[in-house]
Amino acid sequence: MKKDALFNKKGKEILKLELDAEPFNRMTASFYKYFELSDPYAFRDELFRKWDKLEIFGRIYVAAEGINAQMSVPAHYWDDFLNILDITPELKGIHIKRALQDGNSFYKLTVKVRKELVAYGVPEDSYTMEKVGNHLSAEEYNDALQNPDTVIVDMRNYYESEIGRFENSIIPDVETSKELLPEVKRILEGKENEQVLLYCTGGIRCEKASSYLIHHGFIDVNQLQGGIIQYAHDIKKKGLPSKFIGKNFVFDDRLGERVTEDVIAKCHICGDTCDTHTDCKNDACHILFIQCETCKNELAGCCSKACKDFASLPIEEQRIRRKDPTQVVSRTFFDSRIKPKLSQNI
Ligand SMILES: [Zn+2]
Ligand SMILES: [Zn+2]
Repeated sequence: MKKDALFNKKGKEILKLELDAEPFNRMTASFYKYFELSDPYAFRDELFRKWDKLEIFGRIYVAAEGINAQMSVPAHYWDDFLNILDITPELKGIHIKRALQDGNSFYKLTVKVRKELVAYGVPEDSYTMEKVGNHLSAEEYNDALQNPDTVIVDMRNYYESEIGRFENSIIPDVETSKELLPEVKRILEGKENEQVLLYCTGGIRCEKASSYLIHHGFIDVNQLQGGIIQYAHDIKKKGLPSKFIGKNFVFDDRLGERVTEDVIAKCHICGDTCDTHTDCKNDACHILFIQCETCKNELAGCCSKACKDFASLPIEEQRIRRKDPTQVVSRTFFDSRIKPKLSQNI
């Protein structure tokens, strides 16, 4: 097979139109696993070949330390997808988390090889994946939260916590994930003997973070099994109260899954209560921000008047101006941390 066949070639707009026209439903699912891979590139090619045949879309990262996958599977191929996992020794028996809301989550298949699954940038000898925190079920997590001495830390990025979080959780004030672990260690200083609860979207970030904290002397480190995605499922299934309020930010086109009806964020333009993330329609900007319906209509989906004006120029004119950095309208008034590179965060 030619190498070209292992990558997607079509443009985004065409792919999105094709997705909308599909006569079948898709199921959104995610999974991760830490394991040692000697040849991540060969593993990547093999997965791409098999999943592409089943018209699976998604964003998958493969590294020498394992896999992290978010995907959208045609409902009629669901069993075949499970079969592939089953006959792949590294993925056999892997725990799959289903999304709360399916929707159109991905429009193409991307399988990338990365250096690390979670880019915390901490030295390799500051954690060991053999020693990670205890995994707590939704029920156990809720119970632990009753203890007034428990410390709960959100291991995600600011823009994720902004629309949904566990009650009373600490939201570390960092700009990038590289600063996160040292900052969490600093926040927790003096609490080495107390119960620490960590949580993230799907669990993968807490695996490494808990290992790092254990390595630095914390004795009772716990993490939410399967992250908020699994928690949201389990509280619904078991009729438990949700200690997580608001929306769970997800890294696909849906940008969030509603867990409770609470809306805890505000429109970044007018300050009205709103928790809908959107990305600026100005192709030179594409900042991720929160915008209410009224502001969306007023600014044509852009983050500012400047972006709206730029986006309404003829495409040719935009292209010419984009070559000159002084002419590019973007990031007009937002804090840098509100502009994540979605594909690089998990
Ligand atoms: Zn607004
Ligand atoms: Zn903009």
